[in-house]
Amino acid sequence: MNAETLFISDLHLDPDKPEISQNFLRFIKIRAAQARGLYILGDLFEAWLGDDDGAEAFTELFAAIKHLSTTCRICFVQGNRDFLVGEQLLHKLGARLLQEITIIQLGHHRVALMHGDQLCTDDTQYQTFRAQVRSLDWQQQYLAKTLAERQAIAKQLRRQSRQAMREKSDHIMDVNAQTVADSFDRLGVDTIIHGHTHRPALHSIAPDRQRIVLGDWNPEASYLSWKDGQFSLIDPRV
Ligand code: MN
Repeated sequence: MNAETLFISDLHLDPDKPEISQNFLRFIKIRAAQARGLYILGDLFEAWLGDDDGAEAFTELFAAIKHLSTTCRICFVQGNRDFLVGEQLLHKLGARLLQEITIIQLGHHRVALMHGDQLCTDDTQYQTFRAQVRSLDWQQQYLAKTLAERQAIAKQLRRQSRQAMREKSDHIMDVNAQTVADSFDRLGVDTIIHGHTHRPALHSIAPDRQRIVLGDWNPEASYLSWKDGQFSLIDPRV
């Protein structure tokens, strides 16, 4: 029961924000070194436009993750900013790709893991966009472009997204309570762990239902630990 499982999301690794990469490197080398499992629930990257990106800024980090993978099982769920992470990068990291909603057993908990953007159903504009960019057609067309073309499109999409977010209330950007309740029912789980909203918290929804929200790295580490039958959320704001 001593082995620990760790959960992280929303690091938003960015070559322009080296502090986050440094903190993650420390986390990988020190904090995760004794763990049995590490789940990365999306938005590891601020943007990932395809596995042909050399990502030179992350060379040391990627090597450390690969090294960790020899002792720790590393799993990845795609987020809304890195849904183009594919087998090539995951092979480099020694990580395996999980379905966008994956159910695991932790002690007596049946746990659903997901990035969390699919719970934000009040934001219908975003959900329409999500359906589009998650389609195989869209992804094949996008990945057929040069990296420079993809960067230009991504920049444009981010500009539109920032503009749209300014017009949306905090409420619209959070999860929809009914969608959350439906997810517990449909998946038959007692725990949902997700990120995306950057609102780290442990929510007890009912005596036998909890929703755990992972925090973003800003630039301090934020993570969830499962050890000795208990969840602990470690975040500078919680
Ligand atoms: Mn996200």
